[in-house]
Amino acid sequence: MRRKIIAGNWKMNMTPSQAVALVNELKPLVATDEADVVFCVPAIDIIPAMEAAKGSNIEIGAENMYFEESGAFTGEISPSMLTDVGVKYVVIGHSERREYFAETDETVNKKVKKAFEHGITPIVCCGETLTQREQGVTIDFIRQQIKIAFLDVTAEQAAAAVIAYEPIWAIGTGKVATTAQAQEVCAAIRKCIAEIYDQATAEAIRIQYGGSVTAASAAELFAQPDIDGGLVGGASLKPDFGKIVNYK
Ligand code: PGA
Repeated sequence: MRRKIIAGNWKMNMTPSQAVALVNELKPLVATDEADVVFCVPAIDIIPAMEAAKGSNIEIGAENMYFEESGAFTGEISPSMLTDVGVKYVVIGHSERREYFAETDETVNKKVKKAFEHGITPIVCCGETLTQREQGVTIDFIRQQIKIAFLDVTAEQAAAAVIAYEPIWAIGTGKVATTAQAQEVCAAIRKCIAEIYDQATAEAIRIQYGGSVTAASAAELFAQPDIDGGLVGGASLKPDFGKIVNYK
């Protein structure tokens, strides 16, 4: 039985002082023993959010990191900077990073490998555009994203990874994928992992759905056999996130 993982993706929202207030507000609402709860926050919010989350079940994660160890990469955050303050999760390859910051399947792969080298669990994002869905190439496209993201990643590492399936047309649009659509792609991702590695790895890896998840849609989505939780944007900044975490 895979443990559910429900993660918030704050994106570029919340100043450090707002972050502290939000963590304090949500702390009692997201308390649960039944799932891992992660708040992925802007880099500058990581330390204050961790302080505020102390003693709770909330893990603070990062939204991005670079794939080099250190050096002349102005503006970037290294994996050791994250581990030094106790970060255990990092979102890799979100579609917004691919679209606005030139991330590719290749940079995603470098970051995924680097995260594992440092003992950080990557939340590896994949997802198709509306055009791709309409053209019927969703599964092929996602299989390709997954195959490249996991190139030279060991089975043991992959088993510990998290994949977030986020159809781009569903992100921030209020247009949530149907449970059938989300389950179909998450099952295809698991099958792809079984082909790359083996059945045991496929059964261990956790696959989230993301894209306009709300308190109203969470229960049905998370009840699907291949959906092990969610990556939640907009609703992770509101008290509703408590209802999403405690969706049962
Ligand atoms: P959304 O964002 O829940 O606001 O659609 C999800 C995401 O981008 O991770």
